[in-house]
Amino acid sequence: MRALDGKVAIVTGSTSGIGLGIARALAAQGCAIVLNGFGEAPTIARLRDELATEYGVRVVYDGADMARPEQIAAMVAHATAELGRVDVLVNNAGIQHVAPVHEFPVERWDAILAINLSAAFHAIRAVLPQMLERNWGRIVNIASAHGLVASVHKAAYVAAKHGLLGLTKVVALETATTGVTCNAICPGWVLTPLVQKQIDDRAAREGIPLAEAKRALLAEKQPSQEFVTPDQIGALTVFLCSEAAAQIRGATLPVDGGWTAQ
Ligand code: NAD
Repeated sequence: MRALDGKVAIVTGSTSGIGLGIARALAAQGCAIVLNGFGEAPTIARLRDELATEYGVRVVYDGADMARPEQIAAMVAHATAELGRVDVLVNNAGIQHVAPVHEFPVERWDAILAINLSAAFHAIRAVLPQMLERNWGRIVNIASAHGLVASVHKAAYVAAKHGLLGLTKVVALETATTGVTCNAICPGWVLTPLVQKQIDDRAAREGIPLAEAKRALLAEKQPSQEFVTPDQIGALTVFLCSEAAAQIRGATLPVDGGWTAQ
């Protein structure tokens, strides 16, 4: 028996980066997976087959756009119809845009708030009734160190991630006497396409090699000077899904190499 045999998880934004690491970690524990996110159809089909074969679990893909509430509700309905239930929801899909607040494109603000914050609300409201009915569920919101502290030029991202921590706490309180828990993980820098873009932009802006831009990015915020890995975030997600974590409720857990200890 594996820890999550028979359970079903939706992991939003799981075609890349942290979400893919979480999907792998849950699948390795026997959990059936709903993959979600953008990408080339053949790449997604390969990912789906790899996970299913490697871990012997059912894996379905739903391409719902997390900026679209009706597509989020349809994804939860699709997951329930295909796999019978949803026990674990990981709200992970996220985007970034970097600009001073007075130059921040309104369209980017709206998109970041929709995908990094409102999508979690829409997904939670769609899955919670069935979790409460079975009196078991795990909701894990992937926030950020930027849910706890701010940085310049990230108004939308910081606002959305702080908001996501607020939502996490409210859902945790509303489910406190049930078998459903809701928590947030707050990663520091993880080397994924989302961060690689910021490294590329920094190297171009400052006219420095990529390796130096990478070192500078870590040195500025992350005392360990090492990236967090998607596997480490996956392992914590699996722990939050365990019975040992049943009384961890409304927590905002930093995995940030010391970033927010400063
Ligand atoms: P990533 O760019 O590698 O992956 C993002 C995923 O979200 C992809 O699968 C992408 O297709 C999906 N996605 C984007 N827009 C979507 C939409 N509208 N609908 C559905 N899917 C969509 O990024 P990542 O670094 O793995 O980030 C994952 C989460 O972790 C984000 O919420 C991010 O804010 C958070 N995070 C990342 C870091 C880091 O250092 N990388 C640190 C803290 C928090």
